[in-house]
Amino acid sequence: MEPICQHEILTQVEKPARYAGNEWNIIVKDHEKMDVTFALAFPDVYEVGMSFLGYKILYHIINARENFYAERAFAPWVDMEQKLRSRDQLLHSSETKTPLKDFDFVSFTLQYEMSYTNILNMLDLAGIPMYSKDRTKEDPLVIGGGPSAFNPEPIADFLDLVVIGEGEEAVIDLANVYKEIQGKEGVTREEVLMHLAQIPGIYVPQFYDVTYGEDSKITSIRPNRDGIPEKIEKRVLKDLDAAEYPEDLVVPFLNIVHDRVMLEIQRGCTRGCRFCQAGMVYRPVRERKKENLRKIARTLIDKTGYDEISLTSLASNDYTQIQELIHELLEEFKDNRISISLPSLRADKFSVDLAEKLQQVRKSGLTFAPEAGSQRMRDVINKGVEEQDLIDAVTSAFRSGYKQVKLYFLLGLPTETDEDVVGIADLADKVVDAYKAVNGGKAKGLRVTVSTSLFVPKPHTPFQWVGQVTKDELHRRRLILQNSFRSKAITYNWHDPNVSFLEGVISRGDRRLSKVIYQAWKNGCKFDSWTEQFRNREWLQAYQQVGIDPESYAFRQYGFDEILPWEHISSGVSKKYLKLEYERALLGKTIEDCKTNNCTGCGVCQSLGVDVVVWKGEEA
Ligand code: SF4
Repeated sequence: MEPICQHEILTQVEKPARYAGNEWNIIVKDHEKMDVTFALAFPDVYEVGMSFLGYKILYHIINARENFYAERAFAPWVDMEQKLRSRDQLLHSSETKTPLKDFDFVSFTLQYEMSYTNILNMLDLAGIPMYSKDRTKEDPLVIGGGPSAFNPEPIADFLDLVVIGEGEEAVIDLANVYKEIQGKEGVTREEVLMHLAQIPGIYVPQFYDVTYGEDSKITSIRPNRDGIPEKIEKRVLKDLDAAEYPEDLVVPFLNIVHDRVMLEIQRGCTRGCRFCQAGMVYRPVRERKKENLRKIARTLIDKTGYDEISLTSLASNDYTQIQELIHELLEEFKDNRISISLPSLRADKFSVDLAEKLQQVRKSGLTFAPEAGSQRMRDVINKGVEEQDLIDAVTSAFRSGYKQVKLYFLLGLPTETDEDVVGIADLADKVVDAYKAVNGGKAKGLRVTVSTSLFVPKPHTPFQWVGQVTKDELHRRRLILQNSFRSKAITYNWHDPNVSFLEGVISRGDRRLSKVIYQAWKNGCKFDSWTEQFRNREWLQAYQQVGIDPESYAFRQYGFDEILPWEHISSGVSKKYLKLEYERALLGKTIEDCKTNNCTGCGVCQSLGVDVVVWKGEEA
């Protein structure tokens, strides 16, 4: 294999540091001496990929093994793509500039459905056949993994393997089995895949047949070989404290989205928001020990030179000893001028007081996501935030001098009425009133920004069966909301519903959508999550060209007895529980967090042999 020379190109593209490599802490090994090599391909630009914690963890874990090697590769921005194509240069890795097609595995992070056309574009640029069926023994094995892998069906035709769940252990199992089998005389690609399919959590789409009825609904999803499991159970780490954590993070030469040390303090969230896929598929909650976190934080700071640590997780404020942890980290780093931050704030006073303590937010702005305006609607989604929580939070913030508040909501949630929509405006007005109450009855200087986006039903959640509202109906509700705001201090923004509609189709889609995604890519679609690149017309054209009606996916209420496209993928949370949760939602009944209360019976601990792990301090 020949490394690719890119010096000349780098002077002609925007942000050349995206492609230059050579950052602090990168790992360079000799391919010739490796047993197994991975190209960790991220289907978005460098700044996004380098901010994704799971990606950094895999890079570290694979490279910690002497005989395995992982390099990074990112979607080239359109200017770089044009340069590569015009020079017939293949897409290559960051570290050694090795073409992706020369690796054993090319693994894609599936973090968002609207990045799938980038996967096709990267395969094309890499000279790797796009469809799994067209690849030979000379081609790498193409893997998908990450949050969206819980329904990989819309891109099943392009992937050789999918890792379901947490990848740390699975990726090493993959490399070990591959090392054993690949060198054997006469072994075929199919035999390699058969061996890899025996690893728990590994899904090989081509070993399953999907059949459809006349009504277009799925009639069966079955393995088409002996020895292939009916269901693929997700991988989950039982002991997060024992898991390796990257200590020598690669430090980029340009600003990335999250340009700081990311310290994962816990995994999973059992608050039980009924629309939230991450909250369902990454159960149960497992906290890292505080003492362990202090040690990791010290090493990370020493090895990277960063001056900020973000306490990362799905809900960092819920970490049992969050106050003590913050206090100890502030003490530990008081001489180093290291700041500590929380990635998001819950809408309550406790969170605002914590943020104040950290002095992490400029006095100008705070962001909250109440998700719904009325208490009824928040109970339906089990958000667990009372109106008074939010008012106490903003009052506390306004007293400390904050003047800007951003509020995020979803429109089109199941059972939403016009009163719920107006409730968003009412809540925003109450925030204005709270400001006036602490500022002599005046709203001078205050700015409340309300943003809404269209609810997207996600697989493995209690709302997985529910259809989205149509664009016309969404438009009607948006106008109601727009006309309901009373204060001039409120600004209203909304997210492009066309993107959410297409995301909804793919989220709950089946294998037949592979054709659409391929056609959309042929029509020029890529970087679909970037406003300036999104091509709605070309996407809709693609559906027409292949004869698939996107509305039959997006707006349809899937039946409880229906075989769902992801029926053979198990997150450990039972379908019975999801249905029960959906029924509770319709009744507006809330449930408590099993981390601080009783087990609510989702089934994950029993089916996967895991436990909620919480540290209260007595273990120290
Ligand atoms: S099985 Fe029970 S304890 Fe475990 S995550 Fe589910 S609800 Fe929580």
